[in-house]
Amino acid sequence: MVKIDEALDIIYNLVTKKSKQIVPIEDTVGAITAKSYKASFDLPRFDNSAMDGYAVKVADAGRTVNIKEVIYAGDSPQNELKKYKAIKIMTGAPIPKGCEAIVPIEDIDFLTKESIILPPTIKPNAMIRWKGEDIKSGEIFLEANTKVTGYTLALLASQGITHIEIYKKPKVVIFSTGEELKAHYEKIEPHQLYNSNAPMFYARALELDCDVSYISSSGDTLEELKLSAKEAMDANLILTSGGVSVGDKDFTIQAFEELGMEILFSKVDIKPGKPTTFGKMGSCFVVNLPGNPLASMVNFEMFVKPIIYKLSGTNSFYHSTITTKMRDNHKIRAGKYTVILGEWDGDSFMPIQNQKPGMVSPMDRADGMIVTSPEIDSLEKNQIVKMIPIKLNLQSDKKENFFIQKD
Ligand code: AMP
Ligand code: MG
Repeated sequence: MVKIDEALDIIYNLVTKKSKQIVPIEDTVGAITAKSYKASFDLPRFDNSAMDGYAVKVADAGRTVNIKEVIYAGDSPQNELKKYKAIKIMTGAPIPKGCEAIVPIEDIDFLTKESIILPPTIKPNAMIRWKGEDIKSGEIFLEANTKVTGYTLALLASQGITHIEIYKKPKVVIFSTGEELKAHYEKIEPHQLYNSNAPMFYARALELDCDVSYISSSGDTLEELKLSAKEAMDANLILTSGGVSVGDKDFTIQAFEELGMEILFSKVDIKPGKPTTFGKMGSCFVVNLPGNPLASMVNFEMFVKPIIYKLSGTNSFYHSTITTKMRDNHKIRAGKYTVILGEWDGDSFMPIQNQKPGMVSPMDRADGMIVTSPEIDSLEKNQIVKMIPIKLNLQSDKKENFFIQKD
């Protein structure tokens, strides 16, 4: 049996990113960059006006000056600005040679259209946007192993980059085990149960930007399990639920071992979900989760999420935490690392009152989870705790200690 942080270290150390592809930038939002990108020119490309106004000399402050010329965005000005003169200029237009500042139209007194009075003081360089002040030529403006957002596309497009290299989405295959299970679209007998884990993992892996599929649930025999496992072997990650405990028909791990799975950890000191197993079969990782819905969900959030992040190629694969406080007192049975699901309102954390490993109803209510160390038997109202968010997607590039311990 391993501790939670040992299991996470195994994941952080052993799971590596996968293949790359080159894609038009419009199709890369949410993907992880596979290399860094350097600017090939300055941005702005030339000194230009930040306002609609007048290009002036500082020494002409307070003077009446003449205007003969207008520079528009897209123009290439040829004439130098001389003293006692101003040149009308629009936002984004290149400043003329000899220009020392831009005075916004709003600060001008007009005698006529061609004759204006400049304000009494003009700061040198006012309202000028300088070549390279935003991005310098040669500078890395997009790091490798980071998530592309809509704003990244602005950076890329501003450098004229049409395609970038990203990591392919992790390919995840999900299947469940259990003779009692029926798919949610099938007719059910009183002694049977709908498979709620498979659609749950399917949707959650989609939310985490995976390429997911699920194959029909397997029966409980070794042969059936091996057949299902073989069908899934081209994945980067196989997720199973059920059949990992000590029951007479719990053959999931054995089936994978017989197909060559090397076990990386088996059984974690975590409540709920102790039998969770992590292995590798060829280049495919495997997580065998318990069948109990809430236990499998907790272990998905704790272990599968970082596996998916590592497979995605991001540098931010660690659990991120939100520091909050307990809304009320809460009792815990000491002796194990315990995960508690709860609601969070932005201010405090409230454990969901009735949470048992076999339940379904608490899962959708959980905004996050906290983890207590074995010595903890109670949490007090207003006590500061670190919550791992579930509904908010936060990731960290630094390992944080999220365990609630006695100090
Ligand atoms: P197992 O881990 O196979 O012993 O299953 C533990 C409990 O979880 C049993 O009550 C199962 O019926 C239930 N269970 C297993 N798999 C699923 C599933 N895919 N969806 C919902 N409940 C499940
Ligand atoms: Mg079972």
